[in-house]
Amino acid sequence: MKLALEGKRALVTGSTSGIGLGIAERLAAEGCVVVLNSRSAGEGGERIAAGLAETSGRKVIYRAADMGDPRAIQALCAGLMDELGGVDILVNNAGIQVVHPLPEFPEEDWERVLAINLDAAFHTTKAVLPGMVREGWGRIVNIASAHGLVASPFKSAYVAAKHGMVGLAKVTALECAEQGVTCNTVCPGYVWTPLVEKQIESQAQAHGIERERVIREILLAPQPTRRFVEVGEVAALTAFLCSDFAASITGAAIPIDGGWTAR
Ligand code: NAD
Repeated sequence: MKLALEGKRALVTGSTSGIGLGIAERLAAEGCVVVLNSRSAGEGGERIAAGLAETSGRKVIYRAADMGDPRAIQALCAGLMDELGGVDILVNNAGIQVVHPLPEFPEEDWERVLAINLDAAFHTTKAVLPGMVREGWGRIVNIASAHGLVASPFKSAYVAAKHGMVGLAKVTALECAEQGVTCNTVCPGYVWTPLVEKQIESQAQAHGIERERVIREILLAPQPTRRFVEVGEVAALTAFLCSDFAASITGAAIPIDGGWTAR
């Protein structure tokens, strides 16, 4: 199936590793001009962009911007307007996780998780949407989580933020439904990325058990397939949602979670 995304300008937030990088790679392979992003330039973004430009043969640039800082987001989007003339595809992927019981949840952690996982999607969407509507075509994909649909203990900020992303996408979808712009949320279960690798190590230490047991008995316990979702699977779904085949899919929250939310 040819997705026909050649020349589309795609901004993927938080895309120097994990799911975001996988989505960026897939969109570049489909012919998009890709903007990689991470919080600061010291994270190897320029090098990763140069590598992806070489392997894909597409224009790939890197722009640092802290998704926890609305002014940095506005400057990023304004800069892309000047440099590329607009953004056709926005993937709100940047995200962090902090885990505490609710009574002990530090206020600053709550604010940071909400800022990067949810507020950033509002600020990016607000900045790029008028251009998409003007052009009569646009795709916005929010990368939430199974935690955008169901909850787990100790993840109050993350679960609130991810549920918020689902709601934001629905409103965005309704507001631009007749303008050729779609907005959807992708809700992955556990995907093996640097973010999850950190959780495996800390859980192995906390429980004093081997990593294989942490993976099977703790992390993948809610995921009936008992396997990690693959980055490439999330990237393929995202790319499909960006294509014209998905023109009628809007305002949807799509699980890709090995059956987690089917329970
Ligand atoms: P990751 O840690 O591998 O990648 C996160 C990316 O976000 C990195 O590129 C990092 O540089 C960037 N980032 C972090 N803080 C940022 C900031 N302030 N400004 C700009 N960029 C920032 O994580 P991942 O597992 O690939 O997660 C990507 C997204 O997918 C997140 O939103 C996460 O919540 C979501 N998700 C992950 C899983 C999973 O199991 N890995 C499951 C469901 C949803």
